[in-house]
Amino acid sequence: MYDALTTRYTFACPALGETRVRLSAFRELDRLPGAAHPAVFRVRFACRCGEDHLGLVPHDELDWAPLGLEAGVFLNLMTDRLEPLGDELADLAARRIQSGEWPWSFFCYPEERPRPIFPSAFWLLAPGTPSGSVGVAVRCPACARVSVNLVSPEHVDLPFHNDAEIGVVEHLFSRDVENTLEEFRAVLYSGDFDARRLLLN
Ligand SMILES: [Zn+2]
Ligand SMILES: [Zn+2]
Repeated sequence: MYDALTTRYTFACPALGETRVRLSAFRELDRLPGAAHPAVFRVRFACRCGEDHLGLVPHDELDWAPLGLEAGVFLNLMTDRLEPLGDELADLAARRIQSGEWPWSFFCYPEERPRPIFPSAFWLLAPGTPSGSVGVAVRCPACARVSVNLVSPEHVDLPFHNDAEIGVVEHLFSRDVENTLEEFRAVLYSGDFDARRLLLN
């Protein structure tokens, strides 16, 4: 369901039949209780048809497929042939992670430091201000607190594309889910962001 060439996920749409969306078009991710191998996430996403729909994404599709850790093909420009994608991308991804690069990162406000993450740590996403930016609420894998960052769509959609500088909301979110949802919407449009550098090293 994830296509590494177009960096898009395929979902069903009641109006279009099928739709392809990037990670930055996701609006809410919830890990479903129960299923564990793999865990399954229920995703609400903004569709081209103008509506939001729900879809299911297994954990491995969410975190690993964008790194090419899944079968696929790509056009090799050297040989002009379609070749298996999985190994090439996976090799490259492994090398970059080993050399200290991380596919996704965010700035944890409670800890005042950048942290590496996988897409499954994204919780809420929404179009930000200025237009073209994306507001993301991230659950920190280290401290479990929620931070809201303002980033470019590429920061979310493309593995190993980390914005050099991102916006950070200086707000300590409550641990309560209902409250956090409201707070997220409130701070996202407050324009109250502070720039932070995202250097992980
Ligand atoms: Zn639709
Ligand atoms: Zn943290």
